[in-house]
Amino acid sequence: MTGYVRLAYISKFYRNDDSFKLDLMDILTTSVNHNAQHGITGMLCYGNGCFIQCLEGKKSAVCDLYFKKILKDSRHTSCQLVYFEESIVRLFDQWAMKFAPLNPSLRNFFLENHQSEFDPYLLNSITIGPFIKLLSTQQGWEYYI
Ligand code: FAD
Repeated sequence: MTGYVRLAYISKFYRNDDSFKLDLMDILTTSVNHNAQHGITGMLCYGNGCFIQCLEGKKSAVCDLYFKKILKDSRHTSCQLVYFEESIVRLFDQWAMKFAPLNPSLRNFFLENHQSEFDPYLLNSITIGPFIKLLSTQQGWEYYI
């Protein structure tokens, strides 16, 4: 199959309010530029001190970004790869990067499936796929390619 890969990881990111906004804006600005140039689309979601990001694109572009840059970025910790699949379609086909803060539908997913507040470290082999599909339907701050 020729096509794309879809990769998702989770990580921890604790900041006070001011440095949170500065770091986040820096990450989003870098992301939209790099991702647009390399045909990568995706979504970054933040809540309760945790990120979950889904990245889609050609395998070499997505793996280079994750393993050579994001995994080594000291701004976040406890980075774990939680999903990797090949696909002929993109779920996040319009966005070089879209950011979604925590909202009721994401909260409800964790309450219904994990009886817990939003905590991406609880996602498992059954819930990760549906959660990524839910992410792809979220409203957020959109950065078009
Ligand atoms: P440089 O800016 O030269 O970075 C060199 C090294 O320092 C890299 O390891 C970098 O990760 C790290 N670094 C950069 N800025 C800081 C800083 N302020 N404090 C500490 N370390 C720093 N980039 C994308 O292109 N696309 C994405 O989708 C994307 N998503 C991200 C999601 C998260 C949660 C985080 C934390 C980062 C994300 N990044 C993303 C940023 C990515 O990790 C790199 O910082 C970016 O790609 C630039 O790396 P570089 O090696 O080209 O440049």
